[in-house]
Amino acid sequence: METPRIVRTSCRGCHGVCQVLVHCDAAGRPVKVTGDPDSPTSRGYICPKGAAAI
Ligand code: SF4
Repeated sequence: METPRIVRTSCRGCHGVCQVLVHCDAAGRPVKVTGDPDSPTSRGYICPKGAAAI
């Protein structure tokens, strides 16, 4: 059985290309998208569209 994990990637919902973290459940299914606080460009920002990507 897999453990929950977080995948670091980028949102392509618009030209902003914010860096995001995709939170996955134990089955590997994405359940939540949050901003990546370690991103040097978006600095943790995520808009409502990106947050609703799931
Ligand atoms: S999070 Fe919002 S602003 Fe950032 S790339 Fe996605 S859609 Fe654009």
